[in-house]
Amino acid sequence: MSTHPPARRRVEIIIVLLTVLALGAYSIPRFLRARAGGMGEACRQNIAKIESAIDEYQLAGDDSLPYPFSMDELYGAGKVREPEALPVCPLGGTYSLRPNGQVVCDHGVGK
Ligand SMILES: [Zn+2]
Repeated sequence: MSTHPPARRRVEIIIVLLTVLALGAYSIPRFLRARAGGMGEACRQNIAKIESAIDEYQLAGDDSLPYPFSMDELYGAGKVREPEALPVCPLGGTYSLRPNGQVVCDHGVGK
């Protein structure tokens, strides 16, 4: 008696494996793109929060320095409500403030 599965059984196993591989090849890239898109959107929302804080900073300011130079100045001057945690880019970028009050993330969002 042979320990090998019959040829028909082997063909069924191969078909199942190919189906699983095809589904993975189709869905994994879509999942990764959707995930990256979601993180980019979260980054854009963080930038909007920082820009909102800059507006608050300007309203509370003395007009000598219309825009903060750094995130520390923005959140540390006591002019804006300090968030529980500073916004962190989900893509690993760093937010910086430009002299015109624009907020950018170093991986390209906000430029
Ligand atoms: Zn970012």
